[in-house]
Amino acid sequence: MTGRPRSPRVARGVVLFLALCLPVSARAQAIHHALTVVVQPESGRLAVEDVITPDGERPPHGVHHFLLNAGLRLTTSTPDAAVWRDAARVPGLAPLIEAAGVPVTAYTVTLAATNRTITLKYEGELARPRDTPADEVSGPAVSKEGIALSGQDVWYPVFDQGLVTFSIEARAPASWEVISQGRRTTHRREAAQNLVGWESPEPQDEIYLVGGPLTEYTRDAGGLTAMAFLRTPDQTLADAYLDATGRYLDLYSRLIGPYPYKKFAMVENVRETGYGMPSFTLLGSTVIRLPFILNSSYPHEILHNWWGNGVFVDVDGGNWSEGLTAYLADHLMQEQRGAGAEYRRGALQKYADYVVEAKDFPLTQFRARHSAATEAVGYSKALMVFHMVRRELGDDAFLRALRGFFERFRFRRATFADLDRAFASSATVDRGLPAAAGRPGGSLLAPWIEKAGAPALKVGGVKAFRQGADRYLVTALVEQTQPGAAYRLRVPVAVTLEGREQAYQTTFRLDTKRLGLELPVEGRPLRLDIDPEFDLFRRLDRSELPPALSGLFGAERLLIVLPAGAPEPLREGYRRLAEAWKSSQPGQTDVVFDDKVKALPDDRAVWLFGWENRFRPVVAASLPDRSASITDTGARLSDTVLGRATHSAALTVRDPSHPDRALGWLAADRAAALPGLGRKLPHYGRYGYLGFEGDEPTNVVKGEWRVANSPMSMLVVQPEGGTITVPMATLAPRRALAP
Ligand SMILES: [Zn+2]
Repeated sequence: MTGRPRSPRVARGVVLFLALCLPVSARAQAIHHALTVVVQPESGRLAVEDVITPDGERPPHGVHHFLLNAGLRLTTSTPDAAVWRDAARVPGLAPLIEAAGVPVTAYTVTLAATNRTITLKYEGELARPRDTPADEVSGPAVSKEGIALSGQDVWYPVFDQGLVTFSIEARAPASWEVISQGRRTTHRREAAQNLVGWESPEPQDEIYLVGGPLTEYTRDAGGLTAMAFLRTPDQTLADAYLDATGRYLDLYSRLIGPYPYKKFAMVENVRETGYGMPSFTLLGSTVIRLPFILNSSYPHEILHNWWGNGVFVDVDGGNWSEGLTAYLADHLMQEQRGAGAEYRRGALQKYADYVVEAKDFPLTQFRARHSAATEAVGYSKALMVFHMVRRELGDDAFLRALRGFFERFRFRRATFADLDRAFASSATVDRGLPAAAGRPGGSLLAPWIEKAGAPALKVGGVKAFRQGADRYLVTALVEQTQPGAAYRLRVPVAVTLEGREQAYQTTFRLDTKRLGLELPVEGRPLRLDIDPEFDLFRRLDRSELPPALSGLFGAERLLIVLPAGAPEPLREGYRRLAEAWKSSQPGQTDVVFDDKVKALPDDRAVWLFGWENRFRPVVAASLPDRSASITDTGARLSDTVLGRATHSAALTVRDPSHPDRALGWLAADRAAALPGLGRKLPHYGRYGYLGFEGDEPTNVVKGEWRVANSPMSMLVVQPEGGTITVPMATLAPRRALAP
């Protein structure tokens, strides 16, 4: 759920903001809502009074139109509002109606010159989403379980696509807490009710109202308020979140600029969501109890208060906020543990496995993630592009650019182009870098975001020439093999020298399709490693990648081969699993029984199902690790023995005689384990092998195969001829972007 489409907001934005790109000097133009809300969970109803002050930019008097959830009945309006039946045909309103997640009613109201405000009273049971995503349960919007309302519910009158400021006074049952954006102004229990007020002078995309029977935990965090709201009281859990909140607010305030809100709240949700809203996050009950969330999704959601919920995304030019958030949260957390290179390799592997040519698109077209392919571009590619910008500018100039960008666009919408300008100007200021990447406009991002695709590298002819006592020249031919124009790259390189523990490291500029590289070195060069720490966004060579399940789940063409010889319940179970996966595969999937296949095809990925599968020996013979084995009675993976009768196994290998084909094998001896495997395995895409136990089934072993020989690592042909086989020398330690 890291970066699940931070759904309500982005989803609405996706459609809605396409039509219009408002240059916002937000505060002046924001419509203000003063809302008084009564939440009635027993009857599932909401009763609201809203005093609206149209924005100061336009003359407030005149005709206004607004939308309201069709389940709500307007009881009073001053001045009088009328239902507007033809609204869907009005150019300005049509996209709003289209974008609303629920059935809406359109109204028109005329404000006389003497009036500054519109007062509306309405109540009822909210109409629910027209199409609920399959992974979400659609219940009543207001229930005893709680509420989680966003702009997409159109629970307050929506006038246009501009930003809003607001205050809310909510009355809810005494056992409830109610949360919104901004600062809490009121919090007192009266009779059987809890009266809670929130105020957001900061312009917002939309208004959230979240609440339910929750226990509150609050703590001061350096002048800000850290809050946690739990469905079941749990001081230890709350403390863990309050600690983490304080830590991350401090980290990012120092790194980017002051936290733009007064509080941050972690709110436990009945549904298993992972949403980041301005100044709070809504996380599912299971999710918040997973120990790794505190170091992965949680900093990501907090950082969205700067990127996405502090500077808003003008998606017209592409959603830059996910890649930047992933880079400064998920990547940073790994970098701090010394695992930055592994993280980047994983990001590149996702791109290589999931983004086939037909699925690729420019980052300027990224809105939100809907699939593994859109995630691999919108998150993985984008974060690699930001990494390259950082390497180009240096940490100081990179951070200075981000700070300037944040300060300038706080509570406004910004595009990739705005971000690009911030980097370009920071590059110019900083030690007069050769016009930021050497082009007149100084654009660092444009070549990477305006078109689809990635560079691919090839290295050959690596030789050494003696030039003096201990002086050598290393030569190599480096090529960009992708179709089309050359990218402008700064390529890191490491040379392993005889008798030295530390590699000699440098970078070279590659902005042509072919380059004769010449590197003078002090000492005998034994080995050359190009981009050894995965600093470049590029399409990885297959042999740089260990075989992983993602190669099957991302395959454009897939053949699933079922075991004809399996006993009946299993045969049927495998057939159902194949059909289920077929519907979620990105490309074309065919399903056949093994007795109908003479030889496995070469031109597509292949999943073999079953212990009984007659092609199983091909897999057994291709296991990349000698300690792994598959026999008639079970499998052995990474020292874990999986008994055939009790365990299930799933793995992928590269058949040496057909290295381009991803080959997978999945086997269970009990049909009852198959539905669970079908659900779980797509979440284990990065792994090469997995073992499960029982019918649930429970994961007992998982791992990645070792990488074979990378074509980016070359032994140097010596002046005397021949090569000397050595591992790569140690690389210089890297400093994380933040300590
Ligand atoms: Zn995100």
